[in-house]
Amino acid sequence: MFMKSSWIKILPIFILIFGFLFLDAKKEMKESVFVFNTKRKLEDNIEKIINDNKEKKMEVNKKVDDKFIYLEFSSDNKVFSYFINATTGEESNFEDFIKENKRNDFSKKINELIYLKYPKFIADILTVNNGNKVYKIENDKLIIYFENYVIEPVIEEELFLTIDFNEVKEYLDFSFVLNKEYQNENGYNFNKNKKAVALTFDDGPGGDKTNKIVELLEQNKAHATFFMVGNKMESGISVMKNVLDKGNEIGSHSYAHKSMKRQKINDLLSDEEKTKEIYHNITGKNLIYTRPPYGAINDKIKESLDTIFITWDLDTEDWLHRDKNYIVDYVMENVHDGDIILMHDLYDSTVEAVEELLPKLYAAGFQVVNISELANLKEQVLENHNIYRSIRKN
Ligand SMILES: [Zn+2]
Repeated sequence: MFMKSSWIKILPIFILIFGFLFLDAKKEMKESVFVFNTKRKLEDNIEKIINDNKEKKMEVNKKVDDKFIYLEFSSDNKVFSYFINATTGEESNFEDFIKENKRNDFSKKINELIYLKYPKFIADILTVNNGNKVYKIENDKLIIYFENYVIEPVIEEELFLTIDFNEVKEYLDFSFVLNKEYQNENGYNFNKNKKAVALTFDDGPGGDKTNKIVELLEQNKAHATFFMVGNKMESGISVMKNVLDKGNEIGSHSYAHKSMKRQKINDLLSDEEKTKEIYHNITGKNLIYTRPPYGAINDKIKESLDTIFITWDLDTEDWLHRDKNYIVDYVMENVHDGDIILMHDLYDSTVEAVEELLPKLYAAGFQVVNISELANLKEQVLENHNIYRSIRKN
């Protein structure tokens, strides 16, 4: 009796212990079923994506920082990428691996880098969410390809942005390799392998017209050389400083816009000295290029003046036509790699033409640069007493 009653007394304790053990086992089972399901979902999703892309070449299949599986394929030089969440097994987007409270900062940074790389007419479109972004992950950087963005004029080349992880390290929710030395893509890092032309403007400084052209150049990641008249310089000091501040150049267009051929050599020399001095007083720099008014030059002038003579091989005759459409069409039909293009920063029609021309030249693959940059891109050393109508590679 005693034994029996003591068993009954401790029975609830046994029930409790077994109950807990049972619940615990059930919980563990549930968890392992969950893990199993996630793993299966992950594997199924990977398999499905690989199967969907079996016509393409698989480039990458790797787990990134236990956060996601990154799959990358290529076909016809196009990149296709996929992100699968390693915790849930679900297919996700790259954006899911940006810290939730940092998504705005991330897109602000991307927009800033887009404007650094691309002209305004392209950046204005790429920073608006109306196309498809493909994210490619490389060792220490991220590349975004922009697809189906409608840009006018149409850009033939692929639009993409390379972002070093250093630039976005605070925003991303996974760890990555950081490169100690990196350089952002900058539209002003001109490329020797691409076409280039020098844009030149004569007869300024031309006040507001010059300033407007400088602004258009800046918006289009372009530079120009302005050949200015010596006796006009002191009335355009702020314009000249603005021209130089934005990476453009100034050359001499003589002191008083007289034909050099009709001047005595001594007068010519003293005029050039005057122009050089005025320019130096204003800018602290030296004039190294001269464009003779009307392009009028002969051997005697060439020998006498210590300067690099720059003429042109593409004359828009903008002073004569005063017609934006004529100028734009004429340039686009006749432009070649290495050309020096002549315009005047005096007319509204020229400003309007420049506004339309710069995007068109960019879309056609031309970099628009100043004379020194063109010489550098074409690997030419320009020399005093020589005349350059164009600057091309040997
Ligand atoms: Zn002139």
